[in-house]
Amino acid sequence: MKEEFCIMPSNPPYWSNKRFLGSERHEVFEGYATKNRDYSIEDGLVIFTTPELHRIGKKSIHLNPKYWREELKLQEIAEQTWIDYYGKTKEDFSKRYGRNYL
Ligand SMILES: [Zn+2]
Repeated sequence: MKEEFCIMPSNPPYWSNKRFLGSERHEVFEGYATKNRDYSIEDGLVIFTTPELHRIGKKSIHLNPKYWREELKLQEIAEQTWIDYYGKTKEDFSKRYGRNYL
């Protein structure tokens, strides 16, 4: 399995910052029109999770994004991680991803 660039902290049992057997990658910020998905991959804002937690289960990212946003703070953690890792500001983040989550 090849390492993929990821700057996110792990948050077990929800997600890992490394690919593991059977894992699926999720881009924290999505959208093809906005390029957010490409930026997420380029910037390392990706997480690795199980198929169940990614898109199958009731609490999966794709079926229950609200849970991941409000309870697990996925986007908030990602924005803060991006700011810290790249030495940028909230304004820089907003310019790249279109809005703020902090
Ligand atoms: Zn996904």
